[in-house]
Amino acid sequence: MQFRQFQVARIFGIPVIIDYSWIPVALLHVWLLSQFWLPARIRPAWPIWLNLILGLAISGLFFGSVLAHELAHSLIARLEGIRIHDIQLHIFGGWARLVGEPRTAMAEFRVAIAGPASSFILSLLFAAGLVSIQLIGSRNLGAIGIIETCYYLMWANMLLAMFNLLPGLPLDGGRALRAILWHRRKDILSATRTAKRMGVGIAYMIISYGIFLIGFGLYRGTLWQDFMMAVWFFVIGVFLKNAAESDYRHREQQHAHEQEIRKNVEGWRVAGTVGSVMQSPVITVLPELKVSEFIDTVLAEHRLTHYPVARDGRLHGVLSLERLRRVPREDWERKVIEDVMEPISETYFISVRASIDHAERKLKSNPLGFLAVIDGDGFLVGALSAADIELAV
Ligand SMILES: [Zn+2]
Repeated sequence: MQFRQFQVARIFGIPVIIDYSWIPVALLHVWLLSQFWLPARIRPAWPIWLNLILGLAISGLFFGSVLAHELAHSLIARLEGIRIHDIQLHIFGGWARLVGEPRTAMAEFRVAIAGPASSFILSLLFAAGLVSIQLIGSRNLGAIGIIETCYYLMWANMLLAMFNLLPGLPLDGGRALRAILWHRRKDILSATRTAKRMGVGIAYMIISYGIFLIGFGLYRGTLWQDFMMAVWFFVIGVFLKNAAESDYRHREQQHAHEQEIRKNVEGWRVAGTVGSVMQSPVITVLPELKVSEFIDTVLAEHRLTHYPVARDGRLHGVLSLERLRRVPREDWERKVIEDVMEPISETYFISVRASIDHAERKLKSNPLGFLAVIDGDGFLVGALSAADIELAV
């Protein structure tokens, strides 16, 4: 992944990453602005180099607006106790990558709506700028530059807000819709399914529009331009459709796994096996969580000696509090759980169906005195320490 991306800044401690796929889009944006948009709007015409400078400035502010949108999502997510891995700018815009997910429907709603809200506010600010400079009435070079900048960014931010509010996954509007349905139905899976269907519907509408454009281009005799636009709509539509479906699939797997554990846990309580003495369900920790966040959130609520480190039910390692204590305080912000956990090895896990004798032998030979318990498919289902066995006997 590293060679496809590079970090350009850190804002509020959040790394801002540029994906190489963003570069052609940024260049295309500058080119379209300075070659077509600005020459069509500015009378008397400006020399090309002046259009280029203004095009660059507007593009900078435009991508700054996209960044502000993602930053708004991120900062609200942080208020909800979710960590932000990074913000990426790529070919389809921006993406704030969160570590973990909002725990409640209200939290999800607030995080989803923060982005479009910030775009609306930016649109209003540029509109205010436009009105004020027009009231001053100056028509010198600088004034024209500011007018064009404000005009473009007022519309761009407005469109950004409106497009993102379309009510289908993976767009912000789809997340807000899911949050509302989740709140009403108390069922996140069914809410996600509806929001996914809406998202797929929107994606097909965008793709159909692309197909319509080709027909329209043939009719108008502007096939080449319309074909380029059609390809873009097509790509966006397919991207949205895949993202909506994978979001749902991910949620469905997670749900199925949780259901499965709940259903099976009674069946595993067979006397003499690990299943009869293990702790289940268990508190798990995400591998990419920062040590400082672990201390503030997980440790503050659940004081245990060991924590299985897992994502989507898959075991990555075991975190021992004793080992964590040896991490110097100045590293808490810098290190993540993955850096300080015991990476998973055969020593640290056992099957739910194994005998208690086997578990005791394993516990004695293992430096942590702790075992993660997995089911036949390798999913984490519980945890076991020597104390659990003593309590049970
Ligand atoms: Zn957004």
